[in-house]
Amino acid sequence: MAERETPAATKSMDDIMALCKRRGFIYQASEIYGGINGFWDYGPLGAQLKKNLRDAWWNDVVMVPCGGRRGPTGEPVRMVPVDSCIIQHPRVWEASGHVEGFNDPMVDDRETKARYRADHLMGVFVVWEVPKHDAQKTGAELMSALATLVEPQSSSPYPEFMVVAPHAAEALSSLAADPKQIPRLKRAQPINAVRGDGAALALLHFGERAFVARVGPVDLALLGREPERFPAPVTGKKGVLTPPRAFNLMFKTYVGATATEDDVAYLRPETAQGIFTNFKNVVDTMRVKMPFGIAQMGKAFRNEVTPRNFTFRSREFEQMEIEFFCHPSEARAWYGFWRDWRMQWWESVGLKGENLVLREHATDELAHYAREGAGTSDIEYRFPFTAPGYGELEGVAHRTDFDLRRHQEYSGVKLDYFDAERGERGPSGQPRGERYLPHVIEPSAGLDRGVLALLCEAFTPDPARASGVFLRFRPRMAPIKAAVYPLVNREAMPEVAARLHADLVGRFGRDGFIEFDAKQTIGKRYARMDEAGCPFCFTVDGQSLQDMTVTVRDRDTQQQERIGLDAVPAFLADRLAR
Ligand code: ATP
Repeated sequence: MAERETPAATKSMDDIMALCKRRGFIYQASEIYGGINGFWDYGPLGAQLKKNLRDAWWNDVVMVPCGGRRGPTGEPVRMVPVDSCIIQHPRVWEASGHVEGFNDPMVDDRETKARYRADHLMGVFVVWEVPKHDAQKTGAELMSALATLVEPQSSSPYPEFMVVAPHAAEALSSLAADPKQIPRLKRAQPINAVRGDGAALALLHFGERAFVARVGPVDLALLGREPERFPAPVTGKKGVLTPPRAFNLMFKTYVGATATEDDVAYLRPETAQGIFTNFKNVVDTMRVKMPFGIAQMGKAFRNEVTPRNFTFRSREFEQMEIEFFCHPSEARAWYGFWRDWRMQWWESVGLKGENLVLREHATDELAHYAREGAGTSDIEYRFPFTAPGYGELEGVAHRTDFDLRRHQEYSGVKLDYFDAERGERGPSGQPRGERYLPHVIEPSAGLDRGVLALLCEAFTPDPARASGVFLRFRPRMAPIKAAVYPLVNREAMPEVAARLHADLVGRFGRDGFIEFDAKQTIGKRYARMDEAGCPFCFTVDGQSLQDMTVTVRDRDTQQQERIGLDAVPAFLADRLAR
């Protein structure tokens, strides 16, 4: 059967979130108390889906690094793991730059008490009104005429409205989906794509009248000087916004009983620093040889100003980070290697090429230390809420020796590495060795964003089937690997099915759930498995009792075939490896 594709832009985030709740993937944290903004709990299927993605990363990064392929210098990729504490010595975050510089500009609405990231306020600048006779043209005719127009240079720096979105593309798609974000707006239509200045044109319909508007970032310096001239998002009211203030994203806590300012500690905002602080320990205890990597996965916490888009921007989330240490002269080659391999890895877990992009940062986007490096790139996924734009899944950065140098400076402990295989050769022809601070390539991925991307990618509306939708996970990622059903709950069918179920749990239960259910019509049970993304349902029916065969239903094609009961484990083993 030909694969039906559903473009990301046409998948509804509301539908995806509803399914996540309905089928036990993701719940709002503390829901019975009304929830807590920016925190999400994983239900049974979500917890297993997350574990499958985490295990895939651990296996493919730590246990069999890069599937056994060799690095750009011809050597195998060497990797060791660590598992460091969430709370570290506060000096760690001074050295890393987080105490001083991990800030977002924050703007408050004094009236509604809403809080926004200033750099996520997209202005809507009306440039001109479309004459009435043009506004009445058919949609396509008008849009193609508008697409050829040149925007006047002198539009006001003060927007008429503001929309909360990190980019103009997202502002446009969210306005098209929900025009109520602007008072009295009936409809919004994008006219052109986002340009180099981060803005795009849109046609806005207010009842009978239509306006061409530029949608893009606002001037933050101007917002700081004259906040009263900027309209608040949602209400459109002027005079209620505060100027942007720097807000440190680290969660503070106190260590010990006295809780004075001297006892302040931070929940880690990234797992990476726990790798750098253990660099010397690993070198001294593990006989590792340059180049090598240290990998770590675990929770990170950021007091995001505006958590949004489901789990995409949460306040508690999990990261999967690699710090790959190498000689400075090899950093450029390793940077290219990791960037390309990480991209392939995301494809291997089921994200499709057309929804996945590798975006190399422009020089003016780079952190100051990275400017001297080989580069920084983001692996981005086209989520339904970012489409037609993309949102970051993983960043791959050449961080030079910045982190080790800073920790060396702040701790007073030497962190350089003695490489016995480098340096000038002595009289015996042996290298004399070279001491250096290694450079670092950092592929830093978000597990929760990865899970969300898998859910969005898998979500496939299909009005022709009973559930109306199914989740097309790769079998390796699916939280339920198989379901075993007696067609009806009588004769010997439940017993035969129960035996098969127990056998499959014993063989495959380590990798995911094997369902058993004897209640409800078989159609309803299949529909539930479609929504849960279970790739195969084995059904024991009347014929099974005579010839020891079962039917296998394929989730994607809905086709059924008969195979021998004893062939089921081999069938499943083969399919789950795909
Ligand atoms: P963004 O620009 O989206 O805030 P970032 O560039 O600050 O992300 P990094 O500091 O590079 O993110 O963190 C590495 C990865 O951690 C990101 O690629 C993302 O997958 C994940 N991540 C970062 N912040 C969050 C968050 N608030 N919620 C969920 N995942 C996050």
